[in-house]
Amino acid sequence: MSPRHEALRIAGEKIGADRAPDRCIEVRNPYTRELVGTVPKATLEEVRQAFQIARAHKSALSRFERSNILNRAAAAVRTRSAEIAALITAESGLSLKDSRYEAGRVADVLMFGANECLKDDGQTFSCDITPHGRKRRVHTQREPLLGVITAITPFNHPMNQVAHKVVPAVATNNRMVLKPSEKVPLSALLFADILYEAGLPPEMLSVITGDPHEIADELLTHPAVDLITFTGGVAIGKYIASKAGYRRVVLELGGNDPIIVMDDADLDEASTLAVQGSYKNSGQRCTAVKRLLVHEQVAERFTELVVDKTRAWAYGDPSDEKTEMGTVIDEAAARLFEARVDEAIAQGARLLAGHRRHGALYAPTVLDRVDPAMTVVREETFGPVSPIIRFGSVDEAIRIANGTAYGLSSSLCTNRLDVIRRFVDELQVGTVNVREVPGYRLELTPFGGIKDSGLGYKEGVQEAMKSFTNLKTYSLPW
Ligand code: NAD
Repeated sequence: MSPRHEALRIAGEKIGADRAPDRCIEVRNPYTRELVGTVPKATLEEVRQAFQIARAHKSALSRFERSNILNRAAAAVRTRSAEIAALITAESGLSLKDSRYEAGRVADVLMFGANECLKDDGQTFSCDITPHGRKRRVHTQREPLLGVITAITPFNHPMNQVAHKVVPAVATNNRMVLKPSEKVPLSALLFADILYEAGLPPEMLSVITGDPHEIADELLTHPAVDLITFTGGVAIGKYIASKAGYRRVVLELGGNDPIIVMDDADLDEASTLAVQGSYKNSGQRCTAVKRLLVHEQVAERFTELVVDKTRAWAYGDPSDEKTEMGTVIDEAAARLFEARVDEAIAQGARLLAGHRRHGALYAPTVLDRVDPAMTVVREETFGPVSPIIRFGSVDEAIRIANGTAYGLSSSLCTNRLDVIRRFVDELQVGTVNVREVPGYRLELTPFGGIKDSGLGYKEGVQEAMKSFTNLKTYSLPW
């Protein structure tokens, strides 16, 4: 793959591909360190131009036309999935297996967007239903926002995070200015091109790349911005909340999800879910398994199985077809996990597998006898680490599970309905998946967390479409 020297997409127009090196961001393959491409650092003037064009445009696309654009883009993503996967792998270090899976998810997001925008969820209320009622009806209709949507995305799913912002915006006839992660901007640009080629009016989407220190505040406070949708870490999410002022803000932030293994669990199934949840996407999912909570009566056997399956998890060259897990995003991230695991070992945790690092490659790692107070589990460790914590009762499991600042998702391995009911009622999270990984979802279904994981507004195509619209009511005398 020769390096791609990319441009901004300001209303589809390619601007800035020939910028001087100090006004470009280099994207390097985290495994080989080879140059994958460059993107321009947008200037404030270019950001303002993108908002001006977007604000001036009012989309008149019918539901049918929007659906067609999204369906055409879904077909293109399916046809070009090998090319998309290769690009995601090159810029992120995710294994080809993970990247191919991601391309499939992107096509699903487009397909769900195409279907959802054919539906009108308007309601009708008869008003003669109380003693002082009148013979009228109140109707509702959804409208796109008056202003522009700013979308800011993280590195961990380079194209799917972008799709989850852009597709609901297109489906609701909105205009969006997107700033993808500067670590993985190339997949976002390819996604925008696929939509333009599928017939999207270019004024509906601009993609701005650049240094957040220079342009982020403009993306948050430009007067044309009506809504900010952000997926990323807690620190920046809270900064955005403080900066946004009188604007709608949708925040999808970090997670610290447990898998909770009860004494009646099928341990083979539970250990498979635990390792898949920990290591897929190199452990870099907001809903990755970040803590393994296991009942003390089955802890020994469960731990053995997790260690065996961890040792069998093939990691290494991301572009090798046989590799399950590639690198994490960069060497700095891998060093952070290494330091946290070192600290836990120094505080009494037992290392059972992994904990080897070469550059950005960090081996799938199992730690036993972890205390909930250790940094490796108190903070979000966004990499392939499986810290095992033992518990003796449902009460204790719930207390430990709820004992971090996060509240995104969770996984529960048991068949006892009374126990399931208690966890569903008492876990402070957005999702409980019984006998599935915490990350299990459809791209359509409501998704999102509470506490430091988010303000409770959901994503998923259907909910994102609701948050990107204004609901108008009108009443008629008939
Ligand atoms: P990050 O918070 O470091 O960066 C996210 C984005 O914010 C990037 O595009 C970055 O350029 C931008 N940014 C940086 N400074 C900014 C500023 N001052 N104002 C506005 N934007 C700014 O996150 P990351 O490291 O790319 O991603 C990992 C994090 O994302 C993890 O915490 C993970 O759990 C979280 N995440 C959450 C979800 C979810 O749906 N809840 C999904 C995926 C990832």
